[in-house]
Amino acid sequence: MTSVVERLDRGSPVFSVEFFPPRDEADEVVLWRAIRELESWDPAFVSITYGAGGSSRDRTIRTTARVVQETTLTPMAHLTAVEHSIAELRNVIGWYAAVGVRNILAVRGDPPGDPNGEWVRHPDGLTYAEELVRLCRELGDFCVGVAAFPYGHPRSGDVDTDTRHLVAKFDAGADFAIAQLFFQPEDFLRMRDRLAARGCDAPLLPGLMPLTTARTLAKTAELSGVPVPDSVARRLDPFADDPIGFRKEGIDLVTEVGERLLAEGVPGLHFYTFNRSKATKEVVGRLGLVSARA
Ligand code: FAD
Repeated sequence: MTSVVERLDRGSPVFSVEFFPPRDEADEVVLWRAIRELESWDPAFVSITYGAGGSSRDRTIRTTARVVQETTLTPMAHLTAVEHSIAELRNVIGWYAAVGVRNILAVRGDPPGDPNGEWVRHPDGLTYAEELVRLCRELGDFCVGVAAFPYGHPRSGDVDTDTRHLVAKFDAGADFAIAQLFFQPEDFLRMRDRLAARGCDAPLLPGLMPLTTARTLAKTAELSGVPVPDSVARRLDPFADDPIGFRKEGIDLVTEVGERLLAEGVPGLHFYTFNRSKATKEVVGRLGLVSARA
């Protein structure tokens, strides 16, 4: 099984995609349609998020196993420390290894119930992602990724402190990072500069969401933790009552962000797909990121 870093190290930029585990059978059909439609475009890896709560976790594990067993794709399983003892985390990591997963995105997760609330550590668990990175490293030959926040994590005092914590995750053994959503290429590039200033040149992947509807724009603002900047609002607001026009302008905008980032030498672009393939394929196709194998 190829590692994410091996796929990022092949000279030309790549794309990768993120899915969440299906909630029911109808969701499962939608997800697998997207997976099959993207498979032939040869994404560098596909990542499956890890939700809080038992049933969603089982679905993450089941979906990741299916990707390993039934596709040609390189899977990356997310893992969080939410409501897990270290013994349980060891079990999940062991299970990932047993089904052949070699790539893990080690994120701490948010407090269940209130994502902005105070983190409460499981009595036998972990406090920070840095510790989860160490645990993955201890347990096997995993390629480990971590989360990065262009505007700083919402609970961090300032971006410099946040950068210090990100560097600590690399020092703990992380191989690469994926950035939370952002609006303008400069927001991502400034974070890359902050890391470089601290001597860190590990691969850093921008996370992009194709802006196809007002809802995806609102979701981007929610997840990035920053309001929609004027430059973006000026382009998209005129299409508030024109879904077709909004989609076209939104895809143009994300394609331009991707172009700029590729010109700045990013190793790849990671797409938050919402379990759909069409918009991601449009952006990827326009950016010429489809591999020669596809
Ligand atoms: P950490 O790196 O532990 O940071 C958490 C907070 O603690 C930050 O404010 C940080 O600055 C601070 N901190 C870190 N280290 C220290 C230290 N040593 N001392 C003091 N403070 C410190 N959530 C899910 O539930 N499931 C997923 O699958 C998932 N996937 C994600 C994928 C990506 C690409 C991203 C960007 C986020 C994802 N998340 C997911 C969300 C993530 O779990 C939350 O944003 C969480 O609040 C932070 O996770 P982290 O790994 O960055 O935590």
